[in-house]
Formats: sequence, C-alpha cells, structure tokens
Amino acid sequence: MSMNVVTLLYLVASVCFIQALKGLSHPTTSIRGNVFGMTGMAIAVVTTGALIYKLAGGHLMGLGWVLLGLVAGGGYGAYRAKTVEMTKMPELVAFFHSMIGLAAVFIAVAAVVEPAAMLEGLAKGAAIPTGNRLELFLGAAIGAITFSGSVIAFGKLSGTYKFRLFQGAPVQFAGQHMLNLVLGLAMIGLGLVFMFTESWPAFFAMLALAFVMGVLIIIPIGGADMPVVVSMLNSYSGWAAAGIGFSLNNAMLIVAGSLVGSSGAILSYIMCKAMNRSFFNVILGGFGGEAVSAAGGAKEQRPVKSGSADDAAYMLSNAETVIIVPGYGLAVARAQHAVNELAEKLVHKGVTVKYAIHPVAGRMPGHMNVLLAEAEVPYDQVFEMEDINGEFAQADVAIILGANDVVNPAALTKGSPIYGMPILEAYKAKTVIVNKRSMAAGYAGLDNELFYMDKTMMVFGDAKKVVEDMGKAIE
Ligand code: NDP
Repeated sequence: MSMNVVTLLYLVASVCFIQALKGLSHPTTSIRGNVFGMTGMAIAVVTTGALIYKLAGGHLMGLGWVLLGLVAGGGYGAYRAKTVEMTKMPELVAFFHSMIGLAAVFIAVAAVVEPAAMLEGLAKGAAIPTGNRLELFLGAAIGAITFSGSVIAFGKLSGTYKFRLFQGAPVQFAGQHMLNLVLGLAMIGLGLVFMFTESWPAFFAMLALAFVMGVLIIIPIGGADMPVVVSMLNSYSGWAAAGIGFSLNNAMLIVAGSLVGSSGAILSYIMCKAMNRSFFNVILGGFGGEAVSAAGGAKEQRPVKSGSADDAAYMLSNAETVIIVPGYGLAVARAQHAVNELAEKLVHKGVTVKYAIHPVAGRMPGHMNVLLAEAEVPYDQVFEMEDINGEFAQADVAIILGANDVVNPAALTKGSPIYGMPILEAYKAKTVIVNKRSMAAGYAGLDNELFYMDKTMMVFGDAKKVVEDMGKAIE
C-alpha cells in the first residue's frame, strides 16, 4: 500500500469521525453517527495494520502483535459494552480513558527507550529531535495524568470500594493547592530538562510526578462532579493521543485525538453550563462533598400528599396534556419500557404525551435519550428543556419519574447550592405527580420544595412497579 493510499484512507476515516460526531448530536441521527464512527475506526485500524506491515518490510511478525492486541482489546471492549448497565456507563467510560492514557504512556516510553524503532526516519543511535522530545513529554505527561486520574474517577463513581481515595467525599488537606502547584511546576521543569538534554532520568521522574498529579487533581473533587471530570479526562485522553500522533508522525492519531480532545472539552463546558457551575469551581472541588454531607444530614419531617398508582392513573387518563419527566431513578429501575407502554395507552385515549429531557438528567449527558430510544419511544414525543419549559404551565399533569434535582425549584433561590442551575419547570403544571421510593434527597443532596406543594401528589415505590401498576389501571 503506497503512502498516498494510506493518506487517502486516513482522510476518509477522519471524515467518518466528523460525521459520527455530527450524527451523535441528535437521537434521530445517532444510529447513523455510530455506523460512521465504527466504519471510520475500521478503516483507520486496517490501514494502520497495513502501514505497520509495510514499515516492517513485509514481515508478518509485527502484524501478529497488532492482531493479538485487536482481538484481546476489541473482544474485551465489545463484551463490556454489551453487558454494562446504563447506570454504570460513566465508570466504563472512565475505565476506557485510563486505558487510552496508559497506551499513550507506553508508546512514549517505547519511543524514548528505542527511538529508532518508533520514530520515522531516525537512524539507530541518533538523538531524538528536540521537537519530538517535546511531543513525547507532553503526550506522556497528559497520558499519565489521564490514567491515574481516571482510575480515581472510576473508584469514586463505582462507590463500592472501601479505599479512602475511591470514596465519593472529597479528600482535602491544608496546602493541597500549593502542593499541586509545586509538583506541577516540577513536572514541567523535568519535562523541559528531558526536552533539552534527552535525559532519561528526567523523563521517568517527570512521568512519576504526572501519575501522582493525576491522583492529586481528582481526589479533592466530590463524587457528584465525577461525570464532568470524566468528560474532562476524555478530553485529556484525546490530547495525549494527538501528542503521541505528532511523535509517531501519524495523521490519523492526530486527527482522532484532536476530535476527542476538543469534543470532550466542549462536553465538559456544556455539562458545567447545565449545572450552572464554573469549570474551575468543579476542578477546585467541594460541590460533591456538600452534596454527600447534606444528603446524610438530619432533615425536618414535613407532611406531603401521597396517593396510589391507581389515583395517578385516574389523573393521567383524565388529562388532556401530560408531560413525563424521566430521571436517574427511572434508569435505575429500568422502567423505560413500562413508561412507553403507559404513554401508548394514554395516547390511545386521546391524551397528548410529551417527554421533557434535562441536559444532565441521569448520570451522563444523553442518558435519558438513550434509555427512551431503547424503549422505542417516538422521537417526536421527546423534547429538550428549552423547547418544553414554556409548555408546563399549560400541561394538566407533569409526572416526574425518579427525577429530583432537575425539577428542584431550589435552583431559583439565591444561596442554594444549585442556585442558577436551569431546571425543568414542572412546578408550573396544573397537577404534579412524583414517583420515587422515599423522601430521600437527589444527587445534590437537597430537599425539594416541589414535593410539598399543594398540587403535588407523591406516589412512593420503585418506578418500574409503580408505572406498570399505572398502566394496568388504564385499560
Ligand atoms: P437525582 O439523582 O437528582 O434524583 C433521582 C431520584 O430518583 C432520587 O431522588 C431517588 O429518590 C429516585 N430513585 C432512585 N431509584 C429509584 C427507583 N428505583 N424508583 C423510583 N425512584 C428512584 O436525578 P436527576 O435525574 O433528577 O438529576 C441528575 C443529577 O445528577 C443532577 O444533580 C445532575 O447535576 C447530576 N449530574 C448529572 C450529570 C449528567 O451529565 N447527566 C453529570 C453530573 C451530575 P429515592 O431514593 O427516594 O427513590
């Protein structure tokens, strides 16, 4: 395969990746986006395999290792993607990022130890050019930070490990920011020493500091902010890959890495905006900790109106317009199919049904869209927050299923930890039905005034059971 063909195929793969990102921006085009992404990746992998074969002078040996990696990594990735529960998705993404970071580190170490084997056109024994050393330093440092940071994020998200650094509560200590600053400067200093002198000890000391930095940057951030952190690490992993792409002179890695890097950064920004948090506020930590302590703290007991699934079914079937607000609890209960069946029955009775999706409902962006798509909810019933908020005031019933923070009017009150977070204005509907299992707080750990309003009826119980019972009551 000539280099011209390789370049052309890389270009085709790059266009596929761009089309994939474009397709994934809307539920109706997301399947097409995924197909583009898979096609682009297949072209990139096969072309790179052919390139390695060519660079290895037609020896099959190198290609064998590539195939082994593909089968092992690809097989494990496919298995995890197939078996992962939707609520565990952020952890899986954190795991994948840690692997990308580690891959970048391994490639950089290989290039520093065996430059002639890794860097195109470099004679055996020749010094690594200064530009390449800078790329290797940056790629390795960002890769190491991504790896250890993602491992901590994984632990915090899973919440099942006893190890203190894996707990949701932030780990903070006096002088933490100063320590981070000093270590960060030392890391950059050592990277520059490597860049100017090609000193191995400086490179490996820089790498060790980068691993430590990854841990130190993530531990002060609370569990509630982890999805934003995962998206930020996603961006880092892209930049690490792009840095290594420059060293290896591989256009595909540079393009794919930059796309991941920039889209991850944009996603972090969108998530921060939807939670009304500044990016630095998230990175410097604190929010998740407040959430955990507030959730665990004592709460005053206030009366609420509660009813049964049958009561709710009666109200729903007598409404003209119903807006369904799905939240994290719906995902946990796997109630999406039951909700679709309920909605179908209501539509059959002449009720107008719409779904309202908050940008951060659930535990990652698009969580609710994916769940509803899985249950084959018609796309034309699904509305984004800015498109549906104006309709709540005219809706007869807003039914909130396992959502809490995204409908919490506390976001309108100055001084509240979620003040300014845009919410779905369900409190404006004529009647509000809320399904959750108890009066426990949501992710941000705050009480929700909506539950105590005169027009609100609480229906306690697991979302799947409650929604199924509502469906049965509407015949
Ligand atoms: P919340 O976590 O605020 O509320 C979910 C509610 O579901 C809980 O109050 C819980 O109450 C209830 N619940 C849990 N299990 C069940 C069940 N089996 N059946 C019925 N109800 C159940 O979720 P939201 O979707 O409202 O808000 C998402 C939160 O996540 C926001 O704070 C957001 O900022 C945060 N977040 C989201 C990100 C994203 O990208 N999507 C990123 C970062 C953070 P109970 O225990 O009483 O049942």
